[in-house]
Amino acid sequence: MKLKIESLSKTYSGKVQALKNVSLSLSNGMFGLLGPNGAGKSTLMRTIATLQEADHGEIYLDEINVLKNKKEVRQLLGYLPQEFGVYPKISAERMLDHIAQLKGVQQQGERKDIVQGLLQKVNLYKERKKNLGTYSGGMKQRFGIAQALVGNPKLIIVDEPTAGLDPAERNRFYNLLSQLGENTIVILSTHIVEDVSTLCSNFAIISSGEVLYAGDPENAVNSLDGKIFSKAINQSEIVFYQQEYKVISTQLKSGKLHIRVIHESDPGNDFTASTPSLEDVYFTHVSNTSDFINM
Ligand code: ADP
Repeated sequence: MKLKIESLSKTYSGKVQALKNVSLSLSNGMFGLLGPNGAGKSTLMRTIATLQEADHGEIYLDEINVLKNKKEVRQLLGYLPQEFGVYPKISAERMLDHIAQLKGVQQQGERKDIVQGLLQKVNLYKERKKNLGTYSGGMKQRFGIAQALVGNPKLIIVDEPTAGLDPAERNRFYNLLSQLGENTIVILSTHIVEDVSTLCSNFAIISSGEVLYAGDPENAVNSLDGKIFSKAINQSEIVFYQQEYKVISTQLKSGKLHIRVIHESDPGNDFTASTPSLEDVYFTHVSNTSDFINM
């Protein structure tokens, strides 16, 4: 399948422009939508998921005009929203059975097979009879994926799914997501660069409603080969370095400020050549240094 987003724009209550002329092309596999909070990721996801209108632009899922054929799209869609509430006093098994019923699976036996299969897939089979209110954050997210998978969707949208998960839960969740991508389009929104480098074959960086970069993570990193240099400086020196170099990120470690700069060749001045990472790509487009600019 192909998903084509063309010149999508959205302004909230005549003020906040959440999407500015967004165009993207996606095919089967995991697509990461990476950007800081407030970038417009959820707005884009909700629009693709037919839950809100855009002001301008079009979206096509193969031949289907998404914004005009909501019903058709919803039959192909699995969605895990950012704020995913669960009914606390119902078990995972009963809830999934109910969702399958809502999605039109009439026969009890068929529903049972689907529900058992999904519970096994997301590794909640043993806990299937427990009420959802007793689940940990990671278990709830895995349940969220199970409910999104009812009906074999061809387009799966997961909005900030790893926020709030501890490292072990995040890993378990990565393993689950990485199995989904082969025959479906999976769009994953996140502000965590590691989510994209671990999972995604393609990604876009979005900030203030604009697509700043789109491509595959490996090429993006390779394009910075030989251009990233780092140095530990005193915090008071940052203004000088900001003026003299293109500082893409700063990190405080043991009282020293570790800066990374992008430079066409070795800048000298005790900088060390560094292997580029996807985080460098991200910070080349979305600066994290503004906190230090006025020091
Ligand atoms: P992200 O998912 O990347 O954090 P959002 O799409 O939630 O970004 O938000 C993009 C911008 O639109 C933000 O400035 C946010 O405050 C604003 N916004 C989001 N939803 C609404 C809404 N319903 N009404 C008004 N402004 C909104």
